[in-house]
Amino acid sequence: MPPVEPDPDARIRLASLILRLRELGISNRRVLAAIETVPREVFVPEEYRDEAYLDRALPIACGQTISAPSVVAMMTAALEPEERHHALEIGTGSGYQAAILAKLCRRVTTLERYRTLLEGAETRWAALGITNIAGIVADGSKGWPAGAPFDRILVTAAAAVAPAKLVAQLVDGGILVAPVGPADGVQRLTLFRKEGTKVETRDLGAVRFVPLLEGVARNL
Ligand code: SAH
Repeated sequence: MPPVEPDPDARIRLASLILRLRELGISNRRVLAAIETVPREVFVPEEYRDEAYLDRALPIACGQTISAPSVVAMMTAALEPEERHHALEIGTGSGYQAAILAKLCRRVTTLERYRTLLEGAETRWAALGITNIAGIVADGSKGWPAGAPFDRILVTAAAAVAPAKLVAQLVDGGILVAPVGPADGVQRLTLFRKEGTKVETRDLGAVRFVPLLEGVARNL
């Protein structure tokens, strides 16, 4: 991939996207700055490049989707990411959300069940000079015990039930954000905060994500 040149039109579109995110009540400056720094157009298929700065989910390879920027911003802000954190993402997809987290955390581990998607994401991170992400082809529904505990866990595919196995991989005081609910319907974005032996849960609203599937993809 050639080096990424800033496109003046893209910068104008990005500025209006940031305005929209502010209007939606997203005020976390570090999160907005990360969204300003990571060019979303690099993460969407060529034919959707003009729509990269609209607040829309878009199709990516392997029948998956890159979430709308407002959803990425909201989920990232809910995660309260800090510079010293090691974050785990489940569902690399295009690699966009991982790139946003990589601007906000010390280290990001991200799991994807499609090798094709992971390889595409790795190419994009390299082109953008992002070096603090480890991408792994794995079934993320089991989390990543070898790297646990994590300060933060972000699940970007819908789990049918609250992901207890993943909450177990959080540090004390850690936060997990995941869409929970049926694959074919609307899910509730849910925040889990682990405090000692207790887990506090908070509802963050309705979302629609592709399902979290078991196992790694056999082809692709
Ligand atoms: N975060 C992505 C969008 C994720 S779409 C982005 O920024 O573009 C959801 C992703 O989760 C898809 O790529 C899908 O293949 C992946 N996925 C679904 N089930 C999974 C599982 N069990 N383990 C790992 N990845 C999974």
